[in-house]
Amino acid sequence: MSTLDAEFLIVGAGPAGATLAAALAERGREVVALDRDTFPRNKVCGEFLSPEVEDCLRRLGCLERFHDLSPSTMTRARLTSASGRTLHLDLPATAYGLTRRSLDAFLVDEARHRGAVVREGTDVRSLEKVNGGVRASWPGGEILASRVILAHGRRSRLDRRLNRPYFSRRSPYVAFKQHFRLRDDASDALPSLRHTVELHIFEGGYCGVSFAEDQIVNVCTMLHEDLVKGREIWDVLGRGAAPLAHRLRSLRPVDDELLAIAQIPLALKERGRDGLLFVGDAASMIAPLAGDGQAMAIESALSLASLLLSSRDDDLESLWRRRWRRRYEARIRLGRLLQEAMIRPAVTEPALIALNHMPRVTDALVRLTRG
Ligand SMILES: Cc1cc2nc3c(=O)[nH]c(=O)nc-3n(C[C@H](O)[C@H](O)[C@H](O)COP(=O)(O)OP(=O)(O)OC[C@H]3O[C@@H](n4cnc5c(N)ncnc54)[C@H](O)[C@@H]3O)c2cc1C
Repeated sequence: MSTLDAEFLIVGAGPAGATLAAALAERGREVVALDRDTFPRNKVCGEFLSPEVEDCLRRLGCLERFHDLSPSTMTRARLTSASGRTLHLDLPATAYGLTRRSLDAFLVDEARHRGAVVREGTDVRSLEKVNGGVRASWPGGEILASRVILAHGRRSRLDRRLNRPYFSRRSPYVAFKQHFRLRDDASDALPSLRHTVELHIFEGGYCGVSFAEDQIVNVCTMLHEDLVKGREIWDVLGRGAAPLAHRLRSLRPVDDELLAIAQIPLALKERGRDGLLFVGDAASMIAPLAGDGQAMAIESALSLASLLLSSRDDDLESLWRRRWRRRYEARIRLGRLLQEAMIRPAVTEPALIALNHMPRVTDALVRLTRG
């Protein structure tokens, strides 16, 4: 059994965990981050990075290196209903498309360059309060840390062990993601997709289509499990709404790596408990349709880092809970409400007609789901 010691232990090295590790290590603090995965790795996500990410990466001191990864750029969103009704939106600033394979490995590298230890392939199974800190263990190892931060994402077996209330509430939503490229005979599809994130909305779900780096097209869908039971996902979508079926016909898969997840929890969770602090999706996730989860994970990690570096230990948990509620709770509630409303045709169709005539309302809704 290997035993490590650290001042800060972070469980999970996705966007939230790796950013927090980088920000703490930058200030000379001793940080260990553990992740059950090995990087680079693929992940279910629309891979749309909202404009807010730019300021976060500038604050972290890695914006230039991020641009070296050549993410795609997006300035427009197009919402399309099953009947073909469309709403065009100008994004408030440039958004980016970058695969999770690239983004997550990049942030882990940034954390390591600043001196954080990131240990991969380490699935934390238990956390136990001991004198002077918390002991985290995984098969074959353990670590004793003065302060533990949980950045383990939307749903982890660790949550069940911690008896987090959200874990027992079943969510009927599932999601799928695959990478594609434009077919050689579909070059006429390029102008409509370039610099644009497409959101195809249908009864019970939505499907996002947008470019990532290297001309990769991300197709990511989240939908009610009943729509896909016993059926192949691209078959379901390809035989569904005409505009989405048309888009899918213009694409060919990069490989056969189709990722799927179930039980996507949109309920609010607790952000601090028994001395443990939660950040990113582990603290609560914003509805994926808002396209803001990664930026929020990164921003909330920077915000927690500043608190950890400046506050007294015994105040931290309540300070973090308050700060989190102030910054994110309203956005998360609104994002969920909008997503749940938009996937009902009785709402989508009249909403798209109305919003086409109310650009200010549309802009306000987009702004309210962002930082
Ligand atoms: C269908 C769907 C589409 C989405 N589309 C978008 C989008 O287009 N744009 C956007 O910004 N956001 C999107 N999101 C949200 C986005 O994916 C998340 O908000 C973001 O990944 C949160 O980052 P995180 O670091 O908190 O968690 P994660 O990215 O989930 O990282 C958590 C890490 O913790 C590790 N981990 C988990 N359990 C353990 C354990 N026990 N021990 C050690 N390590 C562990 C995992 O391996 C993982 O690497 C989408 C989400 C879904 C479900």
